[in-house]
Amino acid sequence: MRALVLERAGEALHERELPDPEPAAGEVLLRVRACGVCRTDLHILDGELADPKLPLVPGHQIVGEVIAGGRRFAAGDRVGVPWLGWTCGECRFCKSDRENLCDRARFTGYHRDGGFAELCTADERFCFPIPGGYPDLQAAPLLCAGLIGYRTLRMAGDAERVGIYGFGAAAHIVCQLARHEGRRVFAFTRREDADAQAFALQLGAEWAGDALGRPPEELDAALVFAPVGELVPAALRAVGKGGTVVCGGIHMTDIPSFPYELLWGERTLRSVANLTRRDGEELMDLAPRVPVRTEVEVFPLGAAGEALARLRAGRLRGAAVLEIR
Ligand SMILES: [Zn+2]
Ligand SMILES: [Zn+2]
Repeated sequence: MRALVLERAGEALHERELPDPEPAAGEVLLRVRACGVCRTDLHILDGELADPKLPLVPGHQIVGEVIAGGRRFAAGDRVGVPWLGWTCGECRFCKSDRENLCDRARFTGYHRDGGFAELCTADERFCFPIPGGYPDLQAAPLLCAGLIGYRTLRMAGDAERVGIYGFGAAAHIVCQLARHEGRRVFAFTRREDADAQAFALQLGAEWAGDALGRPPEELDAALVFAPVGELVPAALRAVGKGGTVVCGGIHMTDIPSFPYELLWGERTLRSVANLTRRDGEELMDLAPRVPVRTEVEVFPLGAAGEALARLRAGRLRGAAVLEIR
């Protein structure tokens, strides 16, 4: 099969011919149709996440067609493979409905080969059926941007005025979910990023502006998707007493020190890690009812480098997706 391979952190991906993967017991073999590109892929490529499998096929927002293997799906079924690829089922987290924190979790496109390839295997227990109304390319961003975004929004509780910091793939989905739930959305982008601000307003945000500035009114919660530590004190400053700041990314630059006053007043600062299978089931049920419309920029497998560069530069509208055929 044709695949993009990371051989060493800090290097570009190389296109390689690899032997077709063989599904182990309980795994499905998939023909990959689409795979989303995520900021986490950049963190892995850059060596910001420790100990990836090497060589590695990245990619953890996979929409594929079952070719063989497993019992849960039939050949021809369309399934999604998310970031959470395997959990132990035995640790204290797995036993308390927090498999996202599993001590021995294995992640797709990080500890196991992912979807920047023509074929991949996946543990069938961690795959999701994809809602029928979504074409492959539009479904792919649901599998990480959507899922992490969904979990991040859930951690904001019943906040009515929600700030979203960084208006990329996750934010463009969360904005739609939040509006569907009757919340008010305030979008924070780089000051000069008029395109992202216009995009946010188009998706239902009532205000869009400078991430380091103040919103027009106090917020009840802030969701931080940009990997920029400086935004954390800015977000704490933007939320009122009792407000929550949720960091949705897997990696962030260091958070500068800030006065205790910003946390005082029972403000909460927390992160969101990974996803549970329940998050996936809930989102796959909710997305078509909103309905969430994902905006994607499509690249062929061979242009993954360009997609990653555009993501790094913040020059994407919505999500980048590799179309694989
Ligand atoms: Zn576990
Ligand atoms: Zn991701």
